[in-house]
Amino acid sequence: MNPTSLRMGALSRAAVATFFLGLALTVVLCAGLRQAETERTQAEFAQRAAVRAAAVTRAFDEATDALRATNLFFQVSGQQSGAQSGAQSGDVGRAQFDAFAQPLIRRHGYLQALEFQRFVSAAERAAFEAERARLWPGFAISERGPAGLERAGPRARYLVNDYVAPIVGNEAVYGYDALSNPAQRAFSARAVDSGEPIASPLLDLVQGGWERRGILIAMPVYRPGARLESLAERRAAALGLTVVVIDVALLVDGSLDAAHLLGDRDFSLSLSAAGADGAMLQVFRHGQAPGPLPWWQVLAGESQLRLKRGFDVAGSRWELEVEQRPPGLVHRLAELAALVFGMVLSLAVASLVHQRSARIRRTEALVEQRTAALEIATGSLRLYQRAIEASANPILLASALRPGFPIEYANPATTRVYGYAAEELAGRPLAMLAGDAADQPALEELRQALRERREGHALVRQQTRDGTELFGDVYIAPVRRPGGVTEHFVITVYDVTKAKRYEAELEHHAQYDTLTGLANRALLADRIERAIGTSGGKPVWAVALDIDHFKLINDTLGRRTGDEALRAVAARIQAAVRPADTAARVGGDDFMLVLCGCADERQAAARLQLVREAVSEPLELDGQALVLGCTAGVAGYPADGEDAETLVKHAEIAMYRAKETGRNAVQFYEPHMNARAIDRLVLEGALRAAIQDDQFELHFQPQVDLASGFVVGTEALIRWRHPQLGTVRPDRFIALAEETGLIVPIGAWVLRTACRQNQRWRRAGLGPLRVAVNLSARQFAEPDLVETVARALEESGLPPDSLEIELTESMMMSDVEAAIETMRCLKRMGVKLSIDDFGTGYSSLSYLKRLPVDVLKIDRSFVQDIVSSADSAAMVVAIVSLAHGLRMNVIAEGVETLEQLDYLRNCGCDEVQGYVYCQPQPVQEVEPLLRAGRVQPAPVDA
Ligand code: C2E
Ligand code: CA
Ligand code: CA
Repeated sequence: MNPTSLRMGALSRAAVATFFLGLALTVVLCAGLRQAETERTQAEFAQRAAVRAAAVTRAFDEATDALRATNLFFQVSGQQSGAQSGAQSGDVGRAQFDAFAQPLIRRHGYLQALEFQRFVSAAERAAFEAERARLWPGFAISERGPAGLERAGPRARYLVNDYVAPIVGNEAVYGYDALSNPAQRAFSARAVDSGEPIASPLLDLVQGGWERRGILIAMPVYRPGARLESLAERRAAALGLTVVVIDVALLVDGSLDAAHLLGDRDFSLSLSAAGADGAMLQVFRHGQAPGPLPWWQVLAGESQLRLKRGFDVAGSRWELEVEQRPPGLVHRLAELAALVFGMVLSLAVASLVHQRSARIRRTEALVEQRTAALEIATGSLRLYQRAIEASANPILLASALRPGFPIEYANPATTRVYGYAAEELAGRPLAMLAGDAADQPALEELRQALRERREGHALVRQQTRDGTELFGDVYIAPVRRPGGVTEHFVITVYDVTKAKRYEAELEHHAQYDTLTGLANRALLADRIERAIGTSGGKPVWAVALDIDHFKLINDTLGRRTGDEALRAVAARIQAAVRPADTAARVGGDDFMLVLCGCADERQAAARLQLVREAVSEPLELDGQALVLGCTAGVAGYPADGEDAETLVKHAEIAMYRAKETGRNAVQFYEPHMNARAIDRLVLEGALRAAIQDDQFELHFQPQVDLASGFVVGTEALIRWRHPQLGTVRPDRFIALAEETGLIVPIGAWVLRTACRQNQRWRRAGLGPLRVAVNLSARQFAEPDLVETVARALEESGLPPDSLEIELTESMMMSDVEAAIETMRCLKRMGVKLSIDDFGTGYSSLSYLKRLPVDVLKIDRSFVQDIVSSADSAAMVVAIVSLAHGLRMNVIAEGVETLEQLDYLRNCGCDEVQGYVYCQPQPVQEVEPLLRAGRVQPAPVDA
């Protein structure tokens, strides 16, 4: 996980801050809401309390008003009656009083009674009682006794309930002396003294047997016209009191109920007033005092709503107390909603901020990435540019949008290869690089690729600025814009001129003898077949030509002179045959001719005679004049054979027969000449015996690392020790062994023996030696070859990479794919592969690339000619660089001189094998050399 994604995953600081800010705002908002709600509740509560207090005081006020009205009625009536009849002041007619009082009482249901209490002195008592008894029989002034109301005891003064309305329900009060009750006495006195309505303390009402609580409000009635300035005057003038009796419970209940103020359940109301002893007493209670608050309200810090209000009722103090539970959850909904909403909003905004900041950071990271990528890209661009400029191969950029595909850029290698300066190329059409070679078919592929805006590749002939021919492996690639439009082409050219030339030379070498330039054996067979194919049944003549005593020249004048002689002879032969004929060199001093257009033996003999004469012309060599003779054997198609192989064989048989009969002769093949074939039968039998009799032996020739001078391995070469024939070299029996198939068991024996010997040396501490083993074509084609190799390795314990198998190019020609597959199997095992006699077979470079080969072994013929032939020397250089290009090692075989060794060292050849170091030798003789690790080179001649 990268740090960027880590940062992305964490909550951004901004988001956290936003969330807490939102939370704080929410809390403030909720607190505000709560404050407002509390204030609102309290105001509402206060108002409710006030309304109730007002309702109660209004009732008292009404009661007081009723009292005042009654009092006024007495004052006025008393004056009138006094003025009219001179009757006692305040003496209102009873009926009159009733008529006045009844509607008031009806209207104010809480009025228990409207009364007039009259002062009666002890002197007046009897008359008064008598007078009243007329209307109310048994009337007497009464007071409260132990058993209820009883006749009042003698006192100086009485304050008697004289008028009572309504009388029903108030019967007991009639005649009751208010002064008998000390509480009444006190407030009545105060009323007389003040001249104002004065309320009594809470009293037990006489009505209902002192069971009900009530108050009386009294207002004095003075004698009309009396001076009322002083207290004494007022006391003297007081006739009595008008009184309203109020059932407090009724009044409060009624007034509140009438105003519909008792409906609230969670609202409790109580009313208290001072009792007779001055202490406050509860007179009324509505609703339960609220219970304890639920936990969440306690938690929320709420408390009960409570309000006390005092008010004055006719000079005495009353108190109204209301209590209310704080409003429930419902009233907190706004607050709650705000809280929830605030939290949600905070969260939402925080997450928005988080997303935004995450996006910003993502964008930042992206920008960072892009910037880095851009830096890398520009860095890469610089790098690419440098790479292109440093490239050894021409790289060009051509416009795809303009006609002719003008060149826009050419790297320095282009200048080096083609000779044109960059300015000379700029703007010129791409085709100019083809030079005069514009008409070659290969160019068409490139033209088509350009037209179709696609990739293209072709090997084309081109010309440099000075007209030199150049082979270019040209690759064209379109450069497309993102939209798909091709703007440019990149053209890369690989200069394969040298490789092409080497290839041509290799091809030539594969078919022509390097020493003489004549056709070799391979081309010869081809020419014979072709001649047969076009002969239309007419004779084709194969001639085997052997220079007499040529070995003598070699031995006496040296090899170099011998080679010179061969070249001269070859040239003469070539000149002597017709252009349609073929002259070939097939071995040391063995030549072959193919003669066409000779109808019979006579004509063929005549044509051959011309050749023999040319050969026998005196030859100047090393200042000596030599005359060379030659012997020839002739076989004719179709009489002596129907294919090249048979014809060559029969021509050679005829030639041997000619030699037997004396040199410098011509012999035509005859069927009885099968002597050699009979020889072969003898040899074949001997070969079979050789396997059983263990007549084979391996010789080892050291291979030396040129750089270090150490012996790094050996090549195993077979020898046949024949009891009679002595040591037979492989050239003499390998071909036969191949033909007969005996090579398979022989080859297996070689593999086993070579591996075992090499491992023995390795175990003996002679170093990490490698052994090279030759394989014949027949062996290579055996289906169980890989198995045979594996077994040889297993049996010997030799590590696979210490075994090198030598193959020849000709082995692969019949079935390239199968050969490659076999080689892959061997490679997979870990075995090393080398190509023996490299340069003598058909070595196409393109096909060589496909072979999984580790080593190229330069054929002896090149090595021998290194000093004498510039071509061979160049060839060796070419092979070395080619091999190294394909990551192969190069070993040169047949190295005999120090000059050859020097040359090979100079051109980078890796290893060397040849007489200059050591001949192939039996185990006992080669071992000390291996033990020493080094060999000193010594020329063969020395
Ligand atoms: P080759 O594989 O090219 O072996 C190299 C030959 O060149 C050997 O001949 C070796 O003795 C000879 N030679 C080495 N150094 C020099 C030198 O400096 N100058 C000259 N003039 N010759 C040198 P040899 O041993 O007679 O073998 C001839 C051919 O027989 C080999 O050619 C190889 O193709 C074949 N051969 C040898 N042993 C075996 C074998 O065990 N199995 C198979 N299938 N073929 C074998
Ligand atoms: Ca070999
Ligand atoms: Ca060889």
